[in-house]
Amino acid sequence: MKGLIFSVKRYAIHDGPGIRVTFFMKGCPLDCWWCHNPEGKAAGQVTTERIERIGEREFRSEELVGMEYTPGEVLAKAERDRVFMEHSGGGVTFSGGEPLMQPQFLVEALSLLRSAGFHTTVDTSGYAPPDVMRSVLEYTNLFLYDIKLLDPHAHRKFTGVDNRLIISNLDMLLEEGAEVVLRIPVIPGVTAEREFMEQLRQFIESRRGGRISGISLLPYHKTGSSKYRRFGLPDRMERYSQVSNGHLDDYMEILQPLGIHVRKGG
Ligand code: SF4
Repeated sequence: MKGLIFSVKRYAIHDGPGIRVTFFMKGCPLDCWWCHNPEGKAAGQVTTERIERIGEREFRSEELVGMEYTPGEVLAKAERDRVFMEHSGGGVTFSGGEPLMQPQFLVEALSLLRSAGFHTTVDTSGYAPPDVMRSVLEYTNLFLYDIKLLDPHAHRKFTGVDNRLIISNLDMLLEEGAEVVLRIPVIPGVTAEREFMEQLRQFIESRRGGRISGISLLPYHKTGSSKYRRFGLPDRMERYSQVSNGHLDDYMEILQPLGIHVRKGG
């Protein structure tokens, strides 16, 4: 069983869980307006044009997005960075796209990594059949779990899908005792509002019995715009601005009474 991956990165998150090797997996059932990885949305390989500029000159070539990995190759790649991960308290993350769209590969890769002693994280939109979500539970130390919007209609408008499955999967994970860090995109005109943050605080408050160990506020930024140009895709966020640092601080303050660590980014 092979997995299709469009990028592998090693990075450390400030104030976060050590050095992590992250495998970005192809395919996503959502279509978020603000997606920073549009090249990861399609489930298969895609060909794109790569442009390099030196002064006035421009060089173009074709680039294939999507590389096949076996679970053993994932493990081998992680082994090369074991020393960094062990010393920093890091581990291996599967992100995307939506990693749960390739469940068989994901389960095999996670189980190999766990047997080899790596800390494992699944970064998910939560939009997956419940049995698929359950299948990774025993091999996953931490879930990074997106809560994009609370209102189902707005969720459908901005991501293409309803959020009821996402919320019921979150509740299932919490009931099963999984450790979860919630990730909230903070987008002017969509979620960057006091009212939304107050609703979010109530939403989290009512789930305090579970192991929600952190909240990451992810400010929308424009760095993904160039990718839309590069891939010839319409940028639906063109007229939206970035969120200011001051506003982010206000939102953190709203969530802080929960007593859960809130961080910007990550
Ligand atoms: S869930 Fe993530 S990868 Fe999928 S479209 Fe939304 S932002 Fe992009």
